Amino acid sequence: MIKITLPDGSVKEFEKDTTPIQVAKSISEGLARNVISAKFNNTTVETTTPLDTDGSLVLYTWNDKEGKTAFWHSTSHIVAQAIEELYPGVKLTIGPAIENGFYYDVELPSGSISEKDFPTIEKKALEIARGKHDYKMRSVTKAEALTFYKDQGNEYKVELIENLEDGTITFCDHDTFTDLCRGGHIPNTGIVKAIKILSVAGAYWRGNENNTQLTRIYGISFPKQKELTQYLELLEEAKKRDHRKLGKELELFTFSQKVGQGLPLWLPKGAALRERLENFLKKAQKKAGYEMVVTPHIGQKELYVTSGHYEKYGEDSFQPIHTPKKGEEFLLKPMNCPHHCEIYNTKPYSYKELPKRFAEFGTVYRYEQSGELHGLTRVRGFTQDDAHIFCTPDQLDEEFKNVIDLSLYVLGSLGFDNFTAQVSVRDLDTPEKYIGSVENWEKAEQAIINAAKEKGLDFVVEGGEAAFYGPKLDFMVKDALGRQWQLGTIQVDYNLPERFDLNYKGSDNELHRPVMIHRAPFGSMERFIALLLEHTGGNFPLWLTPEQAIILPVSEKHEKYAEKVLKSLENNEIRALIDGRNETIGKKIREAEMSKVPFMLIVGDNDEVANTISVRKHGGEDLGAIDVTMFTDLVNTEINSTLKTFKE
Ligand SMILES: [Zn+2]
Ligand SMILES: [Zn+2]
Repeated sequence: MIKITLPDGSVKEFEKDTTPIQVAKSISEGLARNVISAKFNNTTVETTTPLDTDGSLVLYTWNDKEGKTAFWHSTSHIVAQAIEELYPGVKLTIGPAIENGFYYDVELPSGSISEKDFPTIEKKALEIARGKHDYKMRSVTKAEALTFYKDQGNEYKVELIENLEDGTITFCDHDTFTDLCRGGHIPNTGIVKAIKILSVAGAYWRGNENNTQLTRIYGISFPKQKELTQYLELLEEAKKRDHRKLGKELELFTFSQKVGQGLPLWLPKGAALRERLENFLKKAQKKAGYEMVVTPHIGQKELYVTSGHYEKYGEDSFQPIHTPKKGEEFLLKPMNCPHHCEIYNTKPYSYKELPKRFAEFGTVYRYEQSGELHGLTRVRGFTQDDAHIFCTPDQLDEEFKNVIDLSLYVLGSLGFDNFTAQVSVRDLDTPEKYIGSVENWEKAEQAIINAAKEKGLDFVVEGGEAAFYGPKLDFMVKDALGRQWQLGTIQVDYNLPERFDLNYKGSDNELHRPVMIHRAPFGSMERFIALLLEHTGGNFPLWLTPEQAIILPVSEKHEKYAEKVLKSLENNEIRALIDGRNETIGKKIREAEMSKVPFMLIVGDNDEVANTISVRKHGGEDLGAIDVTMFTDLVNTEINSTLKTFKE
């Protein structure tokens, strides 16, 4: 008999060689029907793997991330089989599951695959899936594995196998298809009910541009047709909300090949929006006791050697800047932290003067491969809403709560109300991986958990997810399309205070190391605005949006009155503009609707006589004719409902 421990802590005895699916059956038939993947003693196994020792077992369904991974990986085998049947002589390389679906990299015998071929591949793959073929793992010797692929003339698989150790190599069979694979499959192909090939792209073998360029086939699959339909609708909506598209339409930012890839240029409307966001945070930060600092865009190489960033970013980042002086090297700053440590170091502190909170909208530069660049979310130069808090270990508790308050204020004011938090702590089995004393780690982890509890966050604690230099808290924000983004990391750091030899005088008159907290509620202005664009579809909160109102004169003769309205709006601090083009009012309304301006103010004969404006909301709601004062009240009421004052 073997003892199996389940995630709820219960221990059950089973005959030796019981499989995960049989364990599921012993719990309930319903569970057994839904289990598609399993982990035994933290290693992925097949649902049909005989378990021959005591251990802990986790069973996964489609609703688990692990379940989806097994599902999509298994589908990649089916699609590979379909490709092999449709393109005889194709060479298969690797086919992993990814965040949304899977891909398979192949070398085609000739020609290419394009969108018009997708339905044929999908049809073939579904035919295979419907055969309900079991996935069967088998061990092979290295010699057998090599022979199998040498016979096919597949140098890619041969190269993969050369790097594997004899005795660890496995093949997976289903139907007539065999693939080199480590395992982690769903029970059979029949569970896959819907398959969609999404796109093809070029991909170098092993990511190295000196190697052959392969064809990467991206796809996704689902256990129900309906789920695929929903997913495709979501993709369609995501396309409409793509920040790169909206950014262009709303004239917020642009890129120039001349300036360089991954270096956004902010247009006047975008720059003004950024400024409003910055001012919003600066105002709250001031109340929260932060002090603004300013640091340069470059620093001596030695600074980053001290901080350890050179080791991390040096080789693969922008190369050093040389000066006329021999041997002198500067780097574009990849992080603001080293500069802030040196600001802390300019004078001695007593524990009574802590915490110090230095904030800066600091622009940093990191080299990203051109293939990795994506709109504003992956760029080579970006501005962090950075701050570093230097405090005593005893102050961590309070500081963490304050930072959470600020983060919640930011999320709330910008309409992100669907989020959870993740607290990343040490892996207690490998204490040697972490720097700083055990006592401090315990204190910090407890401080974060207490703060998260006290602030009523919906959070999970993940063991082993902490960085080597300290535990952290991340907000995981769901956007309007249900996609999850990591935002607003709060990171404890025991490393930099050590490297920069930071200290303060304690109540015992001895020198102590302060704890450092890195935090950035927006993360970076670029990425945050990208997320905000996609979350709101370009309909920014009223306090932030570029123009709050557009005045539409019915005809030329109302232009003077329109000017007068604009003046009084400006006096009331409402951002507005006039569409004075010689176009019909119908066309102006349609275009104003497209440009997402929240309010249209139509001015015609009656308005001019009554000294009113006819207000129409974005989306079509007609609010009738009111005067400018009433309109101002309306705008302010709506703003105040989302934008509260921080800590009144
Ligand atoms: Zn596999
Ligand atoms: Zn930092």
